[in-house]
Amino acid sequence: MSKQANKIRIALSKGRIFKETLPLLAAVGIEPDDDPETSRKLILGTNQPDVDLVVIRATDVPTYVGHGAADVGVAGKDVLLEHGSEGLYEPLDLRIAQCRMMVAGFPNASMEGQRLRIATKYINSARRHFAAQGKQVEIIKLYGSMELAPIVGLSDLIVDLVESGNTLKANGLEPIEHIMDISSRLIVNKAAWKMKHARIKALLEGVRAAVESKNNE
Ligand code: AMP
Repeated sequence: MSKQANKIRIALSKGRIFKETLPLLAAVGIEPDDDPETSRKLILGTNQPDVDLVVIRATDVPTYVGHGAADVGVAGKDVLLEHGSEGLYEPLDLRIAQCRMMVAGFPNASMEGQRLRIATKYINSARRHFAAQGKQVEIIKLYGSMELAPIVGLSDLIVDLVESGNTLKANGLEPIEHIMDISSRLIVNKAAWKMKHARIKALLEGVRAAVESKNNE
């Protein structure tokens, strides 16, 4: 549980998730004191004295929340599938940062072959996807710029997130197979859910109402 007994700490990542989470937090009356794009602070205060925000790498959000260093967080389903759900609940699909996890490659890329080489950040999701098809693949773990891998001959295919498809297209690649739809989820530390139940439940239900009203517009 968070060391701050009566405080709520929310873990977010910079960029798309932060931008798209802001209106949902505003709907429950939470406004950060600083903009993480310009501030170098790692902990941002808010207009609510009992709520602060930690702004961290997207892949670290489930770790902070799972260990109770933050009570609540926002993380992509892609990140959660890689991290696992130890120590945390995933009670709400925020329907933000939506995209698709896809297999991609050159337009003429073969999906058959003895042992296809797949470059990806998403090794668990990729392994599961190809195992479900009964395909033996070699997974090559990368931390970024997956699109480069087929171009330089590091892999036959990639597994990556696709939104508009422009990044693939700009690199001469195209989507080949849809693995799953991805969006960001609200996650809650299990112990904090018990210990700070009323406060977190109110936050959850307020955000849920904001998500529903936004999607009914
Ligand atoms: P796009 O060119 O619009 O298809 O976007 C693809 C690039 O943005 C790839 O590098 C993806 O890894 C990244 N991307 C797209 N959607 C998301 C998302 N929801 N969360 C994180 N990264 C994303």
